[in-house]
Amino acid sequence: MKPAAIDYARPKDLAEACAMLNEAGDAAMMVAGGQSLVPMMSLRLTAFETLLDVSRLEALKRTEDEGSHVFLGAATTHAMIEDGKVPDPSQGLMSRVASKIAYRAVRNMGTIGGSVALADPAADWPCGLIALEAEVILAGPDGERALPADGFFLGPYETAREPNEIIVGFRIPKLPPAARWGTFKVARKSGAFSDSLAIAVLPGDGSARVALTGTTAHAGLLVRASEALPSGNVAALREAARADIAELDPDADAYRVRCHLATVTRAAAEALS
Ligand SMILES: Cc1cc2nc3c(=O)[nH]c(=O)nc-3n(C[C@H](O)[C@H](O)[C@H](O)COP(=O)(O)OP(=O)(O)OC[C@H]3O[C@@H](n4cnc5c(N)ncnc54)[C@H](O)[C@@H]3O)c2cc1C
Repeated sequence: MKPAAIDYARPKDLAEACAMLNEAGDAAMMVAGGQSLVPMMSLRLTAFETLLDVSRLEALKRTEDEGSHVFLGAATTHAMIEDGKVPDPSQGLMSRVASKIAYRAVRNMGTIGGSVALADPAADWPCGLIALEAEVILAGPDGERALPADGFFLGPYETAREPNEIIVGFRIPKLPPAARWGTFKVARKSGAFSDSLAIAVLPGDGSARVALTGTTAHAGLLVRASEALPSGNVAALREAARADIAELDPDADAYRVRCHLATVTRAAAEALS
């Protein structure tokens, strides 16, 4: 099927993009890498009048080492992160996460901002950004605001972003060189969305963060597992994770629970190794 006819607009800067989005409301839809939106347009799963191209906005392409954290613009592609073409706050974790997304053609075009805006429950970046304690920077008619990634994802394809807000980028705290991390993704075939993805981070200060996504309604922090991880007691970690999973994925059947427990255990083992 071919997409329905639409108008195309390319705002010159962030202010113009915000104004156009605010004025058009539901009649406009932003596009960045087009890797998720264009297939949805072709299948006519989405309807709007104007495609607002934000992929070339300088404000969304900015990437910068800002001291205690790194700012990554929303239009940064998965491939740029995978290839280390942008500052890395994560001691290599983000490159690994990017490398597991889809296949190279998708990673060349798809953006971290588009992935977070879409909020597919099985997407990789929401889980990664929660594990890294990142903030989402949004611009709207009243200026900019920052929201923690943990809490930004509310349900399948649902976030705390207001319809007239644009994701400008992400503020990601730098992990120290002594930090350790681990990640494990289960997908039915190479390049597919995850059934379960766990990411464990040990910053080296005695704390830990374990995030999970996949068949859950949205990515989330496993609070009990995060507390249990630094002890290195795998049995305690699994019990803690089991309680977290019951909250985050309450409809999970036995297979899904085992799958989540396996990814958490393997991510934790890599972080502890
Ligand atoms: C075959 C295939 C396999 C895939 N496998 C995976 C996978 O394993 N893991 C994974 O995480 N992803 C996967 N993806 C998704 C891929 O990562 C997409 O690139 C990503 O979900 C969307 O990014 P995009 O830049 O292409 O966004 P687009 O398709 O351009 O936009 C997606 C949505 O985000 C909105 N949007 C875009 N930018 C902004 C912004 N700055 N502010 C607010 N809203 C915005 C758009 O309006 C649209 O609603 C896969 C995609 C394909 C086609």
